[in-house]
Amino acid sequence: MSKITFITFGCKVNTYETQVMRESFLGKGHTEVPDDNSSDIVVINSCTVTEQADKKLLKTLRRIRRENPGACIVLTGCYPQAHKEIPDGLADIVTGTKDRRSVADIVTGHPKGREKTVALPLPTADFESTRVHYSEGHTRAFVKIQDGCEMNCSYCIIPQARGKMRSKPPGELRAEIEGLAANGYKEIVLVGINIMFYGMEYGTDIISAAECAEDIQGIERVRISSIEPEMMKLSHIERLAQCSKFCPSFHLSVQSGSDRILRLMKRKYDTARYMEIVENIRRVFPDASITTDIMTGFPTETEEDHLDSMRFARAVSFSDMHVFTFSPRQGTPAFDMEQVRNEIKHRRTEEMTMLGKELSAAFNKARIGSTCKVLFERERPDGTHRGHTKNYLSVSLKEKHPFTMRGKTAAVLITDADENTLYGDLI
Ligand code: SF4
Repeated sequence: MSKITFITFGCKVNTYETQVMRESFLGKGHTEVPDDNSSDIVVINSCTVTEQADKKLLKTLRRIRRENPGACIVLTGCYPQAHKEIPDGLADIVTGTKDRRSVADIVTGHPKGREKTVALPLPTADFESTRVHYSEGHTRAFVKIQDGCEMNCSYCIIPQARGKMRSKPPGELRAEIEGLAANGYKEIVLVGINIMFYGMEYGTDIISAAECAEDIQGIERVRISSIEPEMMKLSHIERLAQCSKFCPSFHLSVQSGSDRILRLMKRKYDTARYMEIVENIRRVFPDASITTDIMTGFPTETEEDHLDSMRFARAVSFSDMHVFTFSPRQGTPAFDMEQVRNEIKHRRTEEMTMLGKELSAAFNKARIGSTCKVLFERERPDGTHRGHTKNYLSVSLKEKHPFTMRGKTAAVLITDADENTLYGDLI
């Protein structure tokens, strides 16, 4: 059997889908190796959310072809699904975002050589029945519960890569979480492309998905990944407060703090509605961390729009911001709008990034003197231990400990903090 390497770009959904492929390849007797230079098969699970993501992918494909010319390169995921055309000679097998479980069969039956096999069935309304049993390299396991998006925000290419909205049947979700709990996972992250639409076809919702883990023994924590804010009603937040395992870290993609730009983006909320949702969350979960994705340089964005965005981010006091520079994606309405010059976009990205660091540091420093429960995930080479709080703040113990803390939950007194990490001592 062959030596195989997996490379994953992009979001948590891709991480989950790589795990689905990993389990099916390893089940066929292939052996995973970390170094793509020594592998017979390299599976690259791609992302195409930005122009930068595309450039990174193509650079990786060229490097592997150059350094390991004998390897069978399998390109899968959002890039080929959205673009259909792959530069000649860069991949031997190409598949899209559907039928991840069959990738191992396609590769195993593929004759040696450079002949490109393209299998890009359009994503349909059926949710592919996938299940993972472990989560490579992680103490928390991602569980994909939803796929697809039909919101058609004016800048976003993802609907072309992911197709119609669809959800994992509730029975399959429960079985998957039970299996992960039996394999020792204590923390579950529910992931999807537009997760707030989970369960519509079954008359259920995302909150029920979080509630599902309440009585599963072994699971201590449940997280929900990125949320489209307009769907988060007060009744949802109040139901989440009844879930003892729910972790109050909310990633609400704001994208811009300018109402004019939000309208052009075709987002379904304005800043006032967004702030109302933030206030509802903080009323119910006073210690919630609220993080976001925010974009700079959207077409026609003026200096005033940019300053509005900065003022809004400061008003919300995000605990962390993922700052993107807008890049035009062919086939989206924003591609044809009047573009902002690159040097202006990049200067705004720098300013927004600096603001994000300042807000993160302020949020973290406000925790000094408090006690929090930390689920420990890893030991660093210097002997210190790291983990996360329930509201997803990274914590590092100041003292070295000779025993392993991985997988254990313990109370920590926070004595110091910077923009990335809280530091403290075991109580
Ligand atoms: S909600 Fe908008 S930004 Fe998010 S995936 Fe759908 S189209 Fe893209």
